[in-house]
Amino acid sequence: MTDKLGTCEDGDPACPHCHGHCQKRAIVVLYRIDMGDLAGTAMCEDCCCDAMDSGLFDTRESKDE
Ligand SMILES: [Zn+2]
Ligand SMILES: [Zn+2]
Repeated sequence: MTDKLGTCEDGDPACPHCHGHCQKRAIVVLYRIDMGDLAGTAMCEDCCCDAMDSGLFDTRESKDE
């Protein structure tokens, strides 16, 4: 595990968990699948679930667990 992801970067005002102002620790980086997102967005566990559910984000295969 690493802490380099820092704080959740979710900026979605429609997010039911943070309303775009998340202060939780990010655990994963998600990538927008509809706009060729290369940088990705660090997200916490809650926002990650919601983002994946929206169908707009996906994880990227990685050797890191
Ligand atoms: Zn979050
Ligand atoms: Zn959120």
